[in-house]
Amino acid sequence: AAKERGRNAFSFFSEQMNRKALERRSLEDSLRRAMANDEFYVDYQPQIDLRSGRLFGVEALLRWRHPEEGLISPARFIPVAEEMGLIRRLGEWVLRTACNQCHAWHEEGYSSIRVAVNVSGHQFNQPGFIEMVDEVLEETGLDPSSLELELTESTLMEGANETIMTLIDLKVRGIHLAIDDFGTGYSSLSYLKHFPIDRLKVDRSFIRDISTDLDDCAIVEAIIGMAHSLGRRVLAEGVERAEELEFLRARGCDEVQGYYFGRPMSPQEIEQRLVRVTAEPVAERRQAGASA
Ligand code: C2E
Ligand code: MG
Ligand code: MG
Ligand code: MG
Repeated sequence: AAKERGRNAFSFFSEQMNRKALERRSLEDSLRRAMANDEFYVDYQPQIDLRSGRLFGVEALLRWRHPEEGLISPARFIPVAEEMGLIRRLGEWVLRTACNQCHAWHEEGYSSIRVAVNVSGHQFNQPGFIEMVDEVLEETGLDPSSLELELTESTLMEGANETIMTLIDLKVRGIHLAIDDFGTGYSSLSYLKHFPIDRLKVDRSFIRDISTDLDDCAIVEAIIGMAHSLGRRVLAEGVERAEELEFLRARGCDEVQGYYFGRPMSPQEIEQRLVRVTAEPVAERRQAGASA
């Protein structure tokens, strides 16, 4: 009977594996088609400076609308695109789209807005990455200082010595650099001291439980203190509630991003929250969250 059960369990698992493999195959097939079929687009999420209450930048977030399955989360398809080797093309497309958009905003008079773009380790740690960034900036006409690249701790740790060289190359161009999902990886503090990083983005998992979890409070406080003593800025990700905002404000956090201030949205929706800089002073439009 045990043998029987074993066999059943085995066929159960192999059926599951089969199903998984099939799902995966079809995801790969549709990803390959998606580029040609224009199924990707980019949404932008507001980033707010806590001292001024102003929307100073946006994060570009890739979206895939599958013709049958609807929206598929980047958390699901980006790892697949990475393994398939598709991420370089896809990442370049996001960068070009975001830089174009930001440049268009500048042309319309929203001259101070910046755009942050996520970069996968598979892109960053490839020869030719900097050349690609240069090409996109040149083509789109965006000033390098209006671009921020978001890298994760693991991306930075993978490349060792070359990483610092690449970061410096980006930095001398005026490009801003941020560490995304900070606190979830294994970056050592001494690395942080040597990396020319402008901003730490504290991962949402620490912000989420801030009002109930004393450990998370302590971690966020420590990150803010450490970052400031190294002259770096701190942005808190995933701020959803007023209590979180109050905590962060009281601890001197510089910037925030999260549903409380706005979900990722279309460029048109972003524009409605921007203040046009013209010769004539315009009454500043009230920004979401600024009064909270
Ligand atoms: P991320 O870069 O850490 O982006 C933040 C994620 O948190 C986004 O999820 C955003 O929609 C979500 N978020 C923002 N505020 C809140 C909030 O208040 N509450 C909650 N629950 N979530 C919030 P999204 O757009 O699903 O992206 C997931 C991840 O996929 C990103 O995490 C990033 O790692 C990756 N990703 C997205 N676009 C790109 C891209 O163009 N290239 C690469 N390489 N990765 C990307
Ligand atoms: Mg990000
Ligand atoms: Mg993040
Ligand atoms: Mg992430």
